[in-house]
Amino acid sequence: MSSPKTFAIRTFGCQMNEHDSERLAGLFVADGMVRATSEAEADVIVLNTCTIRENADLKLYSALGQLKALKEERPELQIAVGGCMAQKDRGAVLQRANWVDVVFGTHNLASAPSLLRRSVSEGPLVEVLDAPDPLASRDMAPALYAVRELPFAAWMTIQTGCDNTCAYCIVPSVRGGEISRPLGDLIEEATMLASSGVSEITVLGQNVNSYGRDLTRRRPLFAELLRALGQVPGIERIRFTSPHPKDLSSETIAAMAETPTVCTQLHLPLQSGSNRVLSAMRRGYKVERYVATLAAARAAVADLAVTTDLIVGFPGETDEEFDETLAVVAACEFDLAYTFIFSPREGTRAADMRDAFVSDDVIKERFERLKDVTDRSALRRHQARVGRREEVLVEGPSRRNEQMLSGRTRQGKLIHFPLSEGAARAGSLVSVDVTYGAPYHLLGEMVEVLRAPRHKIRVPLLSSR
Ligand code: SF4
Repeated sequence: MSSPKTFAIRTFGCQMNEHDSERLAGLFVADGMVRATSEAEADVIVLNTCTIRENADLKLYSALGQLKALKEERPELQIAVGGCMAQKDRGAVLQRANWVDVVFGTHNLASAPSLLRRSVSEGPLVEVLDAPDPLASRDMAPALYAVRELPFAAWMTIQTGCDNTCAYCIVPSVRGGEISRPLGDLIEEATMLASSGVSEITVLGQNVNSYGRDLTRRRPLFAELLRALGQVPGIERIRFTSPHPKDLSSETIAAMAETPTVCTQLHLPLQSGSNRVLSAMRRGYKVERYVATLAAARAAVADLAVTTDLIVGFPGETDEEFDETLAVVAACEFDLAYTFIFSPREGTRAADMRDAFVSDDVIKERFERLKDVTDRSALRRHQARVGRREEVLVEGPSRRNEQMLSGRTRQGKLIHFPLSEGAARAGSLVSVDVTYGAPYHLLGEMVEVLRAPRHKIRVPLLSSR
């Protein structure tokens, strides 16, 4: 019997893409393939691409350039490109890199295994649908069969696409309009995930707050979804990303406050602290409304950690407007900020604002100033945790120090603590006293194991030979 084919997946971009890669891995495993120990040994290499982050084109085509040498060495190697760049470039991927075997779009994830099989005899194949197939709708196949990095924590995609028109964003044109999965399906999926030992679910969508508007033709169902997920036995932690500030409703804030399993964490992308820039970005809110929404969330949800996204150097951003951003960011005291340098995405409104592009030198200087402010508030917020006892879900040994364990607090903060006698295992819930706060992590001492892991631990079968 021939040995099974092996695969490797390289993921670019956001959590949605990470989750798509997990689902892709699940589809490959279901198709009889096994994960390779490295790309060098894989029979199939998939690049799951992203168009949102900087230099997406450069990243994809330089990765393909590296893989060309591997393909020349091993012509039987199959290379596939999926995700947003595949959706955008389609057949052009093959024109620029004719050593690619398969290109599949964001709505064609479920077809990847069969496309790879067919391409062995048929040659290079491109399959990119513009919208989900209404009959199959398999691009939103549930997360149940995903091969997850952490067996006790799962992502759950509740919607795809986006109905907004942010001037810098390419998501609506590559992923299409919002399509929500039925609420009943999501609860069923969460129940099955819980029965397989998953205790933490992160709900994913481009704009989770408008979840369900397409199902009801008007009314979003996100607050109902949070409350319903809160009733699923075994699901102890619920996180979500991202809500759009213009759509974060009082109903959702109330659902967060009143559902004990919804974690005390909110990612609320500000993007800019200047009303003129926000308007040019077509974000649909003003600074005053953002600040009021944030205050309402903090007032309702005790001990809420808030993170944000910020763009530096949006076309036309003046020194004064950037200073407004600095002031708003300082006042908001975020726990963490993801700061991005504006980079034009072909096909977006902002990419056509060439005359107003801010020079690289100015952007670099603003980026450093902004990072100083966000790091300072993150440090203050984390130092304020020192002396507190946190509930931590253990993720496993620390990546940098095997003598330490790492986990996440209910606020989503990364915390490291020393291994100890009778130590907790990955998937355990433990209590940890915080002893030190840095801008991006906490340190602590474990107090006790609150709950042992609930997920099934796979024991490899030994050969009887
Ligand atoms: S809300 Fe704006 S930034 Fe987010 S995915 Fe939609 S268009 Fe893009």
